[in-house]
Parts: sequence; C-alpha cells; structure tokens
Amino acid sequence: MTTYDLVLSGGRVIDPETGLDAVRDVGVSGGQVREVSATPLAGVTVVDVRGLVVCPGFIDLHSHSADQAGHRLQALDGVTTVLELEAGSYPVAAAYRQAAAEGRPLNYGFATSWAVARMAVLAGVRPGGDIDDFMANIGRPEWQRPAPAAAVRRIVEMLERDLADGALGIGILVGYAPRIDPSEYLAVAALAARAGLPTYTHARELVELDATTPIDGAEEIVKAAAETGAHMHYCHVNSTSIQHVDRVLGLVERVRAEGARVTTEAYPYGAGMTGVGAAFLAPEILHRRGLTPHSLGLLGAEGRLADEAALREVRRRDPGAAVFVHLLDEHDPAQFAFIERALAFPDAAVATDAVPLLWRSGTADPTAWPLPEGVVSHPRTAGTYGRVLRLLVREKGLLSLAEAVRRCTLVPADVVGVPAMRRKGRVQPGCDADLTVFDPSTVADRATYESTILPSAGFAHVVVGGEFVVRDGELLPESLPGRPVTAL
Ligand SMILES: [Zn+2]
Repeated sequence: MTTYDLVLSGGRVIDPETGLDAVRDVGVSGGQVREVSATPLAGVTVVDVRGLVVCPGFIDLHSHSADQAGHRLQALDGVTTVLELEAGSYPVAAAYRQAAAEGRPLNYGFATSWAVARMAVLAGVRPGGDIDDFMANIGRPEWQRPAPAAAVRRIVEMLERDLADGALGIGILVGYAPRIDPSEYLAVAALAARAGLPTYTHARELVELDATTPIDGAEEIVKAAAETGAHMHYCHVNSTSIQHVDRVLGLVERVRAEGARVTTEAYPYGAGMTGVGAAFLAPEILHRRGLTPHSLGLLGAEGRLADEAALREVRRRDPGAAVFVHLLDEHDPAQFAFIERALAFPDAAVATDAVPLLWRSGTADPTAWPLPEGVVSHPRTAGTYGRVLRLLVREKGLLSLAEAVRRCTLVPADVVGVPAMRRKGRVQPGCDADLTVFDPSTVADRATYESTILPSAGFAHVVVGGEFVVRDGELLPESLPGRPVTAL
C-alpha cells in the first residue's frame, strides 16, 4: 500500500468538477493530490478531518493585497491562490520577481495593467510592477485623457510584450479613465483575443449614472466580447452596477446566449473602496451615484468626510488614500438583495477586491505576524469567503454549500483558463494539492467596518502545494510555499 506524504482523513470532500460530495480520504505527495479514496489511506502525516469539508483552495481573481501580510489574512479566509487581475501590474516580470524573491504563503499571479502602461506613455510614469504605481498616479489627468492613435499603438505594444512574459491577461481600469475613446478599449480587447487570454475590466460609468459617458460601461464590455471574440471578465459587478445590477446582468445573459464569453464576479459587501482621487469620486459628479461626501470615509480615520471642501482637500493632498464608498446599506434587505443577485448570477465567481493593508503607525512590515495594532483594511480583505459561507449559504440559503464552493474554486480557475489553472480548483489525482478544510457549521467572517482585519473563523487547515499554511486554525508564519501562476 502506498504511503503518502499527507493524508486528510475522513472529511466531506467536495470536488465541483466531478460533482463528488462524499466522505473520502485524500492522499497528497510531491505537492499533488494522488488519490481520493473511499477506504482509508496511509500517510507519513495523517490528519483527522472528520466532520469538516475538504475542498479545493479558494482562488481569488481580484486581490490588490499582494504582500505576505495580505496573503496571510486571505489564507485564514480559505484562499490558496491570490491573483491581481483587475488593476494588474506593469511590467508583470517585476511583480513576479518581487514575489519570488520575498516568498509568498499563497500562489500568486498577475495580469498586465492597461492603466499603468497608459500612465507610462501619457504621463511619463516609470512603473515598477507594484499597485503603488497605479495608486500614486490615480488622480493625474494626463493619463485619463483620450489618446492619439500612435500612443494607443504604443500602449498595445507594451501590453503585448507583457503577455509574452506570462501575464494572465489584461486588467483594464477603464472606470478610472472614463472619457477615453471606446476604440481604444476595443483595440485592447482585440489584443487579448489574439493572445487567447481574458481581459478584466472595472467598467466605466453606466448610462444611468452619467448620461454623457462615451459609451455605457456594461454595453462596452459585452460589445467588445461580441465584436472581438475576447473573453471579457466583468469585475465586481456589484459595486459598479449598484442598484442597476439587474439591467447589467440581463445584458450579460443576452450576449452569453448569443455565444459571447463574458464572465462576472462579485463580493458580499455594500461598501466599495478605492483611492479617493478616482475619477468617479469627483465632488461634482458624486450625486450621480446618490452619494455625498458624507458617503465616504477614509480608511484609518474616524467617521465620514465632512463636506465637499474636505473631499477636495484630500483628493489634492493624498489622491491614493483608501476610502470607503458606502454604496448600498447592507442592513436594508432590499439594498442587500442587489448584492445577492450579483453573487447568485449563473457562474458568477466570488472575488474579494482585497485592498492593500494600511499601516496607521510605524513603518509597514508585511513580514510581521501576528499583525500589530493599527493595521487596517476593508473587511472584504479578511472576510469575503467566510461571509459567503456564513451569510449566503448557512443563514440565507441563497446558495447550496457545494455551489458556493464551486464559485470560490472551479469557476475562477476556469475564468483564468490558462493550463496551470486546470490543475487547480479541483480535488482529483494529478491536481495541485491546494486544499481548504473548514467546518461548515461554524465558518464565518469576523472582520467588520470597525475591526477590519479580524481573520475569519472555521478554516481548520489550508494547504498550498501540499504544505500547511494554516494548521488547526493557526497561521504558520514560516510557511511560504506559494508558487507563481503564469500563462506560459
Ligand atoms: Zn475595481
């Protein structure tokens, strides 16, 4: 009889691709799942997981929290692969190099960044492959303007080189440069179609929010899919659609029925978060979203912005400062229903939009664990998956447990679609041993808008490439088994 490196014994194994949902032993060796068995397996290490769910590790399509500290919070929420696809990074080689040099507890991957390439061409930014490149320049008007054809060609060439370097697709933050010519967006989508990789869009304004928009933000995405053949992924459809989500999802449904490839994701919170210098937070247009300066609260500060003068001042002084944008009231069932419909939409992925941690005092030290006092974030960074499993599965019954697991694992693996992802999101022999083990009766988010980085509860074990990152509910700070995921 084979003796495996690790056996997870007697758990309820959920494999969304085969539909397996039964008590099994899982044998792991050499970083891969080797056997899924109805009879007991032998292992050097055997962990009794009776009463717990064993499923593929969660794959987050949308995390801006790329350092070790961010990974660790996400590990305690069941995540095993952290992908930065919406903002992306430019150049991706630098982002991969940095993560490999420092080590990461979770697997990581990057799309290339249309916005940062645009900043380089139009605003002279010299990017280093970090989210800070985008945040530091978010409010500068030079990069947000329509570009002449020669500049668009240069931007497309830069993106093409990054795709050749292994980028997982193209992140398109068009919502942050909402006046660009729609032909540029189509040119970027056409590049993605040629490369056979997805785009990841933060949509520009919906026509309901800005009648003067060059094109409706939702129409633009589905049109690009239909006209170029590209796979267009619609990021956080909840937060850009707000109360117009039914119209947007109806449009997605229609073009899908016609054969276009448009996928979606959502997160289960009513507040968004971005840099306060974002184009759509300009004081003169806030009202279009039904917002006032008092709908905004700076991360790490008490209360909300007092008035328009305060908003103008912080946009000028610190445009990259993270700000809560209170879009929908989570305590109002009618408003929360918009978010539920985005999450329950057919084949929608759960994705966090995790934001970089803010260190309010002292110098940021992403290697420190446990995190010191004064580190804050949006609660979605630490709590998205626990919240889906607690609120939407256990308390509301909106999704079955198996369906929720599918939306956290197989669905995002298939959105990314590169060969390396065919070994993830699955518990089958030959697949990567990225596994999450949780108690379905207690799993829960604990992070709130007040205590923003409280780790989720109920995740007993998180295994990445066959190695424990979380064991018996405790994070192992010395464990850095994360590997790069690229399109190569
Ligand atoms: Zn976004």
